[in-house]
Amino acid sequence: MENKIPYKTYLNENEIPKQWYNLRADMKNKPAPLLNPGTLKPMTAEELSGVFCSELVKQELDNDTAYFDIPEEIQNFYKMYRPSPLVRAYCLENALGTPAKIYYKFEGNNTSGSHKLNSAIAQAYYAKKQGLKGVTTETGAGQWGTALSMACSYFGLDCRVYMVKVSYEQKPFRREVMRTYGASVTPSPSDTTNVGRKILAEHPGTTGSLGCAISEAVEAATSNEGYRYVLGSVLNQVLLHQSIIGLESKAAFEKIGVKPDVIIGCAGGGSNLGGLIAPFMGEKLRGENDYRIIAVEPASCPSFTRGKYAYDFCDTGMVCPLAKMYTLGSGFIPSPNHAGGLRYHGMSSTLSQLYDDKLMEAVSVEQTAVFEAATQFARVEGILPAPESSHAIRVAIDEALKCKETGEEKTIFFGLTGTGYFDMVAYQKYNDGEMTDYIPSDDDLAVGFAGLPKVDL
Ligand SMILES: *Cc1c(COP(=O)(O)O)cnc(C)c1O
Repeated sequence: MENKIPYKTYLNENEIPKQWYNLRADMKNKPAPLLNPGTLKPMTAEELSGVFCSELVKQELDNDTAYFDIPEEIQNFYKMYRPSPLVRAYCLENALGTPAKIYYKFEGNNTSGSHKLNSAIAQAYYAKKQGLKGVTTETGAGQWGTALSMACSYFGLDCRVYMVKVSYEQKPFRREVMRTYGASVTPSPSDTTNVGRKILAEHPGTTGSLGCAISEAVEAATSNEGYRYVLGSVLNQVLLHQSIIGLESKAAFEKIGVKPDVIIGCAGGGSNLGGLIAPFMGEKLRGENDYRIIAVEPASCPSFTRGKYAYDFCDTGMVCPLAKMYTLGSGFIPSPNHAGGLRYHGMSSTLSQLYDDKLMEAVSVEQTAVFEAATQFARVEGILPAPESSHAIRVAIDEALKCKETGEEKTIFFGLTGTGYFDMVAYQKYNDGEMTDYIPSDDDLAVGFAGLPKVDL
């Protein structure tokens, strides 16, 4: 192979971004504000400060400042595992026999195994700087809880994680990583909060949900002095921190003189995708460049492709502010898809607005097709991908195969958000031929939509 473009492109220390980019600054139609569920008025900084750290509240509400300096302490932590490589997938291209050029940005090179650490370390830093004792959060499959426990131990903060009970029982190794980093992990719903006790009384024997664990974590933060709640996706502040992925990618592409045509990412709450596309979408919004941008979601939890653009609750207990987003309704319970990180009922308000403005596309894919792509990728590129990330691989392969038909030499770029070492039960199901595809019927979705709050603005 005669390769002019290197297999991996890394940035030097002096090329690493020193600021995050706030995509909202370049959006003509700003994302809709969070609403107070009691008054239906936009949440004020003061109201949000009871739940989140003050500096993070500022970031959450700021739709105008384009760049935020990354504090030096966070830059130093990033150096442990960043910059992450931009990889040219020569082996995958060969295997597919496509004229397309495929690149991916790999975020799995840290112990937590995903991009979530990029925001966890920022949120822990601001909590520490504010003099807090600790933070609370929820975790589903465990990636966010793992990332946060790593970040908290680095800054000497207490970390209390409410873990969806079914995952707590089925993913004991994730739980032990968190405990090794000093976090306390409680299966949710639990009897340690009012909302947990209420849910347990109403649904005895329930194995929990993300929405329910969020309610418990918020209550634990607001009822304990010196604690705040942190969230690993969906929020504007999280997309801001994750912009490091896109900024590094863009700098690496410029270094090798390449411009991607198609950018693809998986979408759960939207944080990795929002971060990956940020500087590219910024150029698109400013009319400087054009890119095709594709969000990929599971057919079992199709927020973009079949959801409604409406104000909704972010949690089951309805204690959180309302967010306007593409949603399936906070009461929607997705079937047990193996990509735990993509099972959220809603989607980032920022991405929702961009999607509504037709600045990006979305597709949904079924999980057996996703694991087929994951396996194909693992065998030629070496990395065992997370099921979530493999949604993006599926669509990148599909796009590359289309190029094979048409002979187009497109440059396809996707986000490889993490590794799948803790997802071997899912791989086992696939290898044993026992994996099935669940697609909700319109009637299933109607149940979730019926629970949407009535908000007239
Ligand atoms: C959590 C997670 C996702 C989905 O979350 P987003 O906020 O949509 O990025 C994707 N990939 C991995 C590996 C994850 O852990």
